[in-house]
Amino acid sequence: MILKLSNLVVSFETESGRVRAVDGVSFSLKEGQTLGIVGESGCGKSVTALSIMGLLPKPFSKIESGVIEFKGRDIVPLMGSQTKRSSKNAKEKKEKSKKEKSDEMQKIRGRKISMIFQEPMTALNPVHKIGSQMNEVYQLHFPQMNRADMDRASIEMLYQVGIATPQKLMQQYPHQLSGGMRQRVMIAMALSSKPDILIADEPTTALDVTVQAQILELIGDLKNRFSMSVILITHDLGVIAENCEQAIVMYGGRVAERAGVVDLFDNPLHPYTQGLLKSIPTLNQIPKSTLPTIKGRVPSLEDMPSGCRFSNRCERVMDICRASVPIELNPKDDHFVACHLFR
Ligand code: SF4
Repeated sequence: MILKLSNLVVSFETESGRVRAVDGVSFSLKEGQTLGIVGESGCGKSVTALSIMGLLPKPFSKIESGVIEFKGRDIVPLMGSQTKRSSKNAKEKKEKSKKEKSDEMQKIRGRKISMIFQEPMTALNPVHKIGSQMNEVYQLHFPQMNRADMDRASIEMLYQVGIATPQKLMQQYPHQLSGGMRQRVMIAMALSSKPDILIADEPTTALDVTVQAQILELIGDLKNRFSMSVILITHDLGVIAENCEQAIVMYGGRVAERAGVVDLFDNPLHPYTQGLLKSIPTLNQIPKSTLPTIKGRVPSLEDMPSGCRFSNRCERVMDICRASVPIELNPKDDHFVACHLFR
């Protein structure tokens, strides 16, 4: 396993107190695999990704507990004094150790694990040319490189992501590019350090449908060429079906179900996954008939029901669902579900 999350709990400070945005999330990513994380807005998928990157907004959020193992090593202690484990050192020693850990995390973030976001315009600086923004990545991770080497590497990377005229693009500003081209630049920047893992958080949501398909195809192609593993975060089950080998369905900050993609689509176990799949239009559907939907809406984090967080929307809810949190069960090989129906 290149990445393994065990019982990750992340909390946020809100006006009504601390709430758990991620509550006991566990999963693994194998080398060379594409893992999809799917769920509605606010289900905790992006917070999970930011936790892996060590980019949770401080001081409002923190990792309460859990382990994030990258190549067998827990990287949570490298993310500052967020856990109880790093608070026992004496003050001076603690400061030194904090700096060393932060430097180490810096080497992992961006260099070993990279991330691309939904809207590339917000990640690119509008007042700097693409070339200088590309070179900045090399300056940060490979300070020994000279300017000519950085230019050469940037041009090569832009070419790798399918930009036909990289020299010209290096001289352009982000506003001169289309949404698809900007996302290609972001991918080039994320891959310039040849990371082991690429996390793509809704990378195509802001793009036209045809460009979406091109970008997803490019990510799949680069994954193979660069021998990377990919975590693809999306709210679109179609994207998961076409691009991933494994999938995780999240709801209310917890993993509802995880399985191989084929198994998940053929045999969904969790009532939430079943509801999501039923709401996808099919070719066999009676023309003009209404699509089934999941009743109700996702409650806010401050207002989550106790027990199973899906209990106020589930058609199969039982008394026990409101009384106790369903633990993850393994009713079939490599197919996990957190639901009291499978006790
Ligand atoms: Fe529905 Fe209960 Fe299963 Fe939750 S635990 S999904 S409420 S049946």
